[in-house]
Amino acid sequence: MSNSSFQECINPDCRASFDVGQSYFACPKCGDLLDVRYDWDRLQVPDSLSWFGKRWATRNQPLDFSGVWRFRDLLNFCGDEHRITIGEGQTILQLNDGIADYVNCSAGRVFLEYEGLNPSGSFKDNGMTAAFSHARMVGTEHVACASTGNTSASLALYAHTCGMKSSVFIGSGKIAYGKLSQALDFGARTIQIQGDFDDCMRRVQEVCRDKGLYLVNSLNPFRLEGQKTIMYRVLEGLGWQVPDWIVVPGGNLGNSSAFGKAFGELKQLGLIERIPRLAVINATGANTLFDLYENQNMRFNGGAVDDKAIDAYYAKLDATGYRPHTIASAIEISRPVNLKKCLRALEICNGVVCEVPDEHIKDAKAAVGRFGLGCEPASAASVAGLKLLREQGVIEPDETVVCILTGHQLKDPNITVKYHSEENREFSNHPTEVPNDIDKIVAALGL
Ligand SMILES: *Cc1c(COP(=O)(O)O)cnc(C)c1O
Ligand SMILES: [Zn+2]
Repeated sequence: MSNSSFQECINPDCRASFDVGQSYFACPKCGDLLDVRYDWDRLQVPDSLSWFGKRWATRNQPLDFSGVWRFRDLLNFCGDEHRITIGEGQTILQLNDGIADYVNCSAGRVFLEYEGLNPSGSFKDNGMTAAFSHARMVGTEHVACASTGNTSASLALYAHTCGMKSSVFIGSGKIAYGKLSQALDFGARTIQIQGDFDDCMRRVQEVCRDKGLYLVNSLNPFRLEGQKTIMYRVLEGLGWQVPDWIVVPGGNLGNSSAFGKAFGELKQLGLIERIPRLAVINATGANTLFDLYENQNMRFNGGAVDDKAIDAYYAKLDATGYRPHTIASAIEISRPVNLKKCLRALEICNGVVCEVPDEHIKDAKAAVGRFGLGCEPASAASVAGLKLLREQGVIEPDETVVCILTGHQLKDPNITVKYHSEENREFSNHPTEVPNDIDKIVAALGL
C-alpha cells in the first residue's frame, strides 16, 4: 500500500516525493505545496464510474455508506483500519428551476450540490474525514487549524470522534456564531486571535511546525483527496454524465484545487471522456485570485508559476495594509494557500474566475432560500457568479451547470435576518409586528 500512493511536491523544479506515512504541510525541500499521488497500475481501480453504484447495496457498512469512502478506490492512501467516518457526504444534487430562472438559464439546466447536509453543516467534512484518517495513520494526538469557522467546526467534530485533542485559531470577531458555537460545543480549544484569517493561518503554521501538531487546513494534501468526492457525487447525481460547468466559491482555494485534481485523474484513468469547465467565484472584497488570473493573466504554466509576481502582489497588500472585507466570511481571505493548485485546476478545466459584490451575494443567498435550499453567504457566491457569467455570455443558457452550495443556511442566521428586515431588497420578507389582538392579527395576515 505505502508504495502505491505517495506525496509529491508540485514544483516542477523539485518534484521531491515522500512516503504517505509522513506528515508535512509544505515540501521540506522547497516549501511548495504537496500532492497525494497514486501509482494507478498498482491499485485496483474500477473500469467504470457506475461500478461505485454497487456499494449502495452494502451501505449497512459505514465505509460504503460514507459519501467519501464509497469512492475509496480513488483516494486509496491508507488502509480501512485507519479510515474514520461519521456519515459524511450524504448530500443531494438538486435540479432547481427557480434558480435557473433567477440566473437566466434554461429550465432543467441548473443543479445545486448541497454540501450543507454534512454532519457539521459544510463541505469541510469531506476533507476532514480524509485528513483525520491520515492523522490516525501517523499516530497524531493533537490537531490544529486556522479557520473562518467551518474548518474549526468540522475539525472539532472529527477530533472528538477520534479521541484527539484539537485547537482552532480564529480571527477575533471574524466568525459567524453558528460556526463558533459548534467548535465550542464539540470541545475544541478555541483561540481567538486579534487579527484576520491570514494572521491565524500564519500563526497556526508556526505552532504546528514548532510543537508538532497536525495541521488540517487545506494545505494538508490529504484533506483535498476527500474533497475530490464532491465531484464524484455530482457525476453520480447526473447519472455519470459530465456537466458543462462547475461553479464554486473561492476562499483558500482548496475545493477548486481538489475538483481540478479529481477531473484530471478521472480523465487520465479513462473514467470520463471530457472535463467540465470550472468557474471560481471570489467576493469583490477578497479577490486575489480574480486579480491575478483575470487582470494579471497569471497561469499555472505546467507548474512554472510566476512566484515573483505572487510575492510582489502580497508585498503590495502588506504595504497598503490591505485587509479583505466581505460579508461572506468563509471566503474572506486574501492570501489563498492553495493558489498554485487552483491555477492548475483552472488549467485542467479551462476555467474562469470572477468576482461578485456583497450586494449580489446577499440577493443570491435569499434566492437560494426562496427557491429551495438554504445556504450561507459564501455559498451563494456561486449562484451570484453564475448570474454574472450568464450576463457576460460566458455561460450559455442551455449549458448544464452545477453550483456548489458549500455550507448550511443556519451557519450565519444574523445575515439572513438582517437582509429580510431591510425594506428594499429583491427578496425582502420582513416580520410584521402586531399587538396581541385577534382583529389586528387577522388584518396583518391580509384576510
Ligand atoms: C471553506 C469554505 C469556503 C471556501 O472554500 P475553499 O476551499 O477554501 O476555497 C466556501 N464556503 C464555505 C461555506 C466554506 O466553509
Ligand atoms: Zn519541493
